[in-house]
Amino acid sequence: MQKSYQNFLSQLERALSVKDFGTELYGLLRSPMKQLEHKLEVTMDDGSQRTFDAYRIQHNNWRGPFKGGIRFHPQVNLDEVKTLAALMTFKTAVAGIPMGGGKGGVTVDSKTLSLGERESLDRAWTNAFRANIGPEIDVPAPDVNTSSFDMDIIAEEFGHPAVVTGKSIEKGGSLGRDTATAMGGWYVLQKLRERLLLDPEMFTVVIQGYGNAGAMFADICARHNIKIVGVSDSSGGIHNAEGLDIAALKAYKKATGSVKDFSGSRNIHNGELLELECGVLVPAALESQITVDNAARINAKVVLELANGPTTVEADDILFGKGIQVIPDVLANSGGVTVSYFEWDQNMKGETWPADKVDDMLKDHMEKAAEEVWVRASNNNIDMRRGAFILALERLQEANFKPS
Ligand code: NAD
Repeated sequence: MQKSYQNFLSQLERALSVKDFGTELYGLLRSPMKQLEHKLEVTMDDGSQRTFDAYRIQHNNWRGPFKGGIRFHPQVNLDEVKTLAALMTFKTAVAGIPMGGGKGGVTVDSKTLSLGERESLDRAWTNAFRANIGPEIDVPAPDVNTSSFDMDIIAEEFGHPAVVTGKSIEKGGSLGRDTATAMGGWYVLQKLRERLLLDPEMFTVVIQGYGNAGAMFADICARHNIKIVGVSDSSGGIHNAEGLDIAALKAYKKATGSVKDFSGSRNIHNGELLELECGVLVPAALESQITVDNAARINAKVVLELANGPTTVEADDILFGKGIQVIPDVLANSGGVTVSYFEWDQNMKGETWPADKVDDMLKDHMEKAAEEVWVRASNNNIDMRRGAFILALERLQEANFKPS
C-alpha cells in the first residue's frame, strides 16, 4: 500500500483510539465501496488515437450521493484518488452536508491537450462512467487542472445539470462557488480566532501556493487589513516582514506568471517559506509539505490547511507537541464542497440563489462545523484533526445505523 492512503488510515485509527465506535465501523470505512477504472479512447487533433487511464472511487454514500472532484494530472494514480475520495467522506460529514465521498481522475498532462481534445476527454469520461454517476448517485466537481469548462461539458453530455457542480453560472453554477474554499477557511479561522489566541490586530499570514484557493485567501486577508508576509508558487517564494502589497502582487502575478522577484520583497526557497515566523501558515498547494523533516522548525501559531493533505501524521504530533494548532483540511477547505452542495440543491429545485444568501449559508455551516470540531478536540485534549474525524465518525455512524 502506498503512503497517502496509509496516511488516511493512520488518521482514522488515531481518531478511533480516542473514542470507541466498535470494530464494524472501521471495517466499513477502511476501504472504498466501489473502485471504477476505465481506459478512455480519444481521437487527437492529428487523427491519432490515444488511451488514458481514468478512475472514479466511490468511498461512501451513507449520508448522500458520492461527491468529489475529477483531477487531470500526469501523476494521478489509484492510491491518490482513493485517499482523496476517503477524505471527501469525512469532509462532507464535518461540513454537515447530505453528501458522501468520491473522487475521480485521469492520468494526463492536460496542458498538452488542445481545447477540442480536452472536450473529447470529458465526453469520453462521462460515457465511461455514465452508469455510475448521476444527481442522486455520484456528483463530480472540478479538481486540479479541471474547471467549469469540463463540468459544463460533462453536464451537457450526461443530460442533467445536477450531475456535476462547479459549472459556469450560465450553465447552472452557483454564485459564490469560486470564492467558497477561501471564504470557508476564513470563516473557520474567525470563529476559532479567540480560542487560538490570535490577536486580530497583530497576526500575520504566510501562504504556500498562490493559486485559486491561496490567492483568494490573500485577497480576503488584504480586505481585512491583515498582513501577508510571505507567499509562494511553484517558481519559488517571496518574503517581506512588513507585509506584501497584495493588489500589486495580484497584478504582477497576472503579468509575469509568477510571484518571484516581486518588488519590495526578497526571494526565498519554498522550504524556507514554510518556516517563516507568522500567526497563520496557510498551505494551499500540495500534499505532504509539513513532514517529520520540517515540522519542528514551523514557526506559526496556527496552520490553516486549505490544501488537501499538506501535513503528515508524524508532523501532526510534532506540531501539537509544540502547541501549534492545525485546522485540518476536512474542516478548513470544506467551504468548496459546501457551496457545491448548494449548487446541486439549486439545480434539483430549479432555483437560483443570490450571492448574499449563499454567503450567509456558507458562514453558518462553517461556524457550526468549526465549533463542533473545537468542542471535540478541546474536551479530549487532542488535535483538531482527530476532533474533526470524531465528529465525522459520529455522523457517519448515525447515518449507517439509523433504524429504517
Ligand atoms: P491551483 O492549481 O489553482 O493552485 C496551486 C498553487 O500552488 C499554484 O499557484 C502553484 O504554482 C502552487 N504550487 C505548486 N507547487 C508548489 C510548491 N512546491 N510550492 C509552492 N507552491 C506551489 O490549485 P487550487 O485549486 O488553489 O488548489 C490548491 C490546493 O487546495 C489543492 O490541494 C486542492 O486539492 C485544495 N483545494 C482546493 C479547492 C478549491 O476550491 N480550489 C477546494 C478544496 C481543496
